[in-house]
Amino acid sequence: MKSFELIVPCYNEEESVNLFYETVSPILYSIDADCSFIFVDDGSRDNTAKLIRELAEKDAKVKYISFSRNFGKEAAMLAGMRMSSADYVGIIDSDLQHSPELIPDMYRAVTEEGCDIAAARRIDRKGEAKIKSAFSRSFYKLINKISDANIEEGAQDFRVMNRKVVNAIVSMPEYNRFSKGIFSWVGFKTKWFEHENRERAAGKTKWSFWKLFTYAVDGILGFSTAPLKISLIVGTFTSIIGFIYALYTIVKTLVFGPDVAGYPSIICAILIVGGLILISLGITGEYIARMYMEVKNRPDYLINETNIIPDEKGNE
Ligand code: UDP
Ligand code: MG
Repeated sequence: MKSFELIVPCYNEEESVNLFYETVSPILYSIDADCSFIFVDDGSRDNTAKLIRELAEKDAKVKYISFSRNFGKEAAMLAGMRMSSADYVGIIDSDLQHSPELIPDMYRAVTEEGCDIAAARRIDRKGEAKIKSAFSRSFYKLINKISDANIEEGAQDFRVMNRKVVNAIVSMPEYNRFSKGIFSWVGFKTKWFEHENRERAAGKTKWSFWKLFTYAVDGILGFSTAPLKISLIVGTFTSIIGFIYALYTIVKTLVFGPDVAGYPSIICAILIVGGLILISLGITGEYIARMYMEVKNRPDYLINETNIIPDEKGNE
């Protein structure tokens, strides 16, 4: 019999964790496979860890991992995938925003229809601020233009994958993990499932506008070096203009003699060029900072507690 594990990252989800389990377990256990949950408590400060432990005591099919602190959803998904040993692995949010009733169809797509990945995409952005939608839409356009990862707009971290894909994702060693990029970068045959955006079942979103913005920046810097090229091009362009202007000034001084006026043009040139230098330095700095973090090679997360025992295959 095939095995299937469903990874559920949870951070401060005490209000939705039980509701999630009650809603999703009948759906999951209806699948004809050896199904289990892997709840990943991402260092929650509320009762989430305790609730998950209680679920595990009641139901032997509930596995859990609890982090020593909040490491972010990317780390939680990675931990789940690393610790999984099943033939098929799924990932779903714990707030019921991802339609759980799609899971059996997604499972069928990877087991019977010859796909490697079944992934969900939302078809609308109902219940989301207009400005937020506009920003995310331009983000997808930009990142697809300047990187070699081709990210579907509206693609979510709600997916079912076979072992090949999980191994590929887990084998990517980077510390700055932008899963949307990694999921698409590894390739493989994907079947898309569309569903409508839903309100959160309970609790509130962990994504502030600022967090989303830095997430977008991470995505671009992680999957493209275009910003470096742009700063090179803009720098070259301004130096050419600067050079032409310098020639003009020299000739003008030789012909008409020095003029005291010209303070505005000098200050403008200094300000513009100074600004451009700082921007390029900043962009370079962002890449260096990321290299610094990669070189340090710190673990992606630290586990405080888990009930997953490493199996004989050597998987954790
Ligand atoms: N999450 C997590 N660690 C974090 C933030 C979020 O594991 O640092 C989990 C969260 O519990 C939820 C999922 O990631 O299951 C999606 O989070 P959220 O609903 O806040 O994001 P949104 O749906 O608003 O994009
Ligand atoms: Mg959510």
